[in-house]
Amino acid sequence: MDEVLTATLQQTVVEHLNYLDVLVADGDTPSKAALAETEVARLTAAWRRLLDQHAPDSRGRCARCSPRWRHNECTVWETAHQQLIGDDAPSGPDRAGRHRLRPVAPARQLTGG
Ligand SMILES: [Zn+2]
Repeated sequence: MDEVLTATLQQTVVEHLNYLDVLVADGDTPSKAALAETEVARLTAAWRRLLDQHAPDSRGRCARCSPRWRHNECTVWETAHQQLIGDDAPSGPDRAGRHRLRPVAPARQLTGG
């Protein structure tokens, strides 16, 4: 993707997110109801697709973010947990490292339909 196309794509996405923020903050009840029917489904689909793209392998590594020779630096799942669940990502003695992700269910469960 060339730089102009990338910049345009990014700008369009940011503007749409800003539009949704305004609609949530200032929209009337019918507008907010419409959001629930359309945008929430789109956002959940987008999250599922993103998480599917960053699904950890059997060793807990994200193939998209971490080439084999580097430490896993994927933070997508932690960001999802923080933003969607509203809590810090779980941690514990079974986590091998700061960026290590736990293997999760197969991708088919993430795509949703
Ligand atoms: Zn990743």
